[in-house]
Amino acid sequence: DPRIKGIAASIRVVPDFPKKGIMFQDITTLLLEPEAFKNTVDLFVERYSGKNISVVAVGRAHSLTALPSQTYRFNMCFIIVGSFACLMIDLHQWKTAKGIEARGFIFGPPIALAIGAKFVPLRKPRKLPGEVISERYVLEYGTDCLEMHVGAIQPCDRALVVDDLVATGGTLRAAMNLLERAGAEVVECACVIELPELKGRDRLNGKPLYVLMESR
Ligand code: 5GP
Repeated sequence: DPRIKGIAASIRVVPDFPKKGIMFQDITTLLLEPEAFKNTVDLFVERYSGKNISVVAVGRAHSLTALPSQTYRFNMCFIIVGSFACLMIDLHQWKTAKGIEARGFIFGPPIALAIGAKFVPLRKPRKLPGEVISERYVLEYGTDCLEMHVGAIQPCDRALVVDDLVATGGTLRAAMNLLERAGAEVVECACVIELPELKGRDRLNGKPLYVLMESR
């Protein structure tokens, strides 16, 4: 799709951030270009419209970790304290769109609104006020945790998990596990960027991953 070239060109790659040897994929520059931002959302909306998707979830990013590939896993939690995944509600079909915390929240809500799905926030521990279910997952060093409100997901929900970037796939997998434990069917994961060398798509419990581009 010719739009992808413009989107890719709008994403800044920051060498040696935050540590030497790390090539950080900075999507904030994409957000500065309304056409590129709109095209990004449109590409996902075109793919998922009419698919009876009911959840768009966004995963949270976690620790600051230099990966063997010299890429960087950025923890948006340091910056957006209240990051969460979202659920969009269609009163007729109970469609839901799930977005993964922090940068996933940038892309999840507009996609959910456009396809008529609910948006459910997945958050780091102790941020959601209601009863939650938690999913702990392994990071390169230690573990992290995602939480979701009980009742946000119905067993009939068909969920789409959205995040800005997939690296090891750990975040997407934790989000998928939460959704499946709540009874949803995960249809697909969708990200703007994939770091293919980390083979994150192999960790998604056999579910498909759709990405707009690979990292530069
Ligand atoms: P994973 O769980 O797949 O290892 O890491 C994915 C998470 O890390 C995503 O939530 C993503 O926001 C964050 N992440 C890792 N590296 C980068 C990067 O270079 N750029 C951006 N924007 N996010 C990253």
